[in-house]
Amino acid sequence: MLVLGEVKDGKVKNIYNLGLKELPLKQIIEEFYQVEVNIRNDAKCAGLAEKEYGSLQFYEDAVFLCLGTGIGGATFLKGELLKPHRNAGSEYGHMVIQKQDGIPCKCGRYGCFEKYCSMKAFKEKVKEILALPGNIDPREMIEKIKENRQNEVLEQYIKQYTEDLYIGLANIVKIIEPQAISLGGSFVYFKDILYTHLLETIEEKRNLVEMPKIVLASLGNDAGMIGAVL
Ligand SMILES: [Zn+2]
Repeated sequence: MLVLGEVKDGKVKNIYNLGLKELPLKQIIEEFYQVEVNIRNDAKCAGLAEKEYGSLQFYEDAVFLCLGTGIGGATFLKGELLKPHRNAGSEYGHMVIQKQDGIPCKCGRYGCFEKYCSMKAFKEKVKEILALPGNIDPREMIEKIKENRQNEVLEQYIKQYTEDLYIGLANIVKIIEPQAISLGGSFVYFKDILYTHLLETIEEKRNLVEMPKIVLASLGNDAGMIGAVL
């Protein structure tokens, strides 16, 4: 079973959106349904699937990032998913990328990566700039962005988004030194706009950080379900 939040030893920890510190989810489900279950974080599931069958299958050291409501992650070293003794780790979304005047995050800190680069953050900002309705369909939003490429505020924001994403990726590279980073979640739907820009930014800054391959997740929305059974 795949869940949002940090999962360790059958418990989900730090579920900021629900204000919960720890929930013994495995025990609750097992008692209710009388079956044995394993629970795992959704980004770790998707990462495992990408590592086994998708965009990361040819890399031993790799990082998967799920850019959606937040930013979840999975880290692989020498082909194995990193499983620290303490917590689940790879919570890249809560890496601070903006210390000065950072946006407050539900985790209690300021300037977390996901407050700038999650797809939730991206979509909210685009809606604000283009005055789009709150419930707009992502495909419709992509069309609106393409129609408004002359809008300077929007262009400036896309540039800023890409720069922030670059900062997060460069930090990960400096710590983990993966051979590849795969970007998944709903980021994939915006690839024509964001991925293209990101590759240009990486090229512009090639003298700053030696970046590995930055690839797009290839298994789509099914990755989480595939990974849940691995
Ligand atoms: Zn945070």
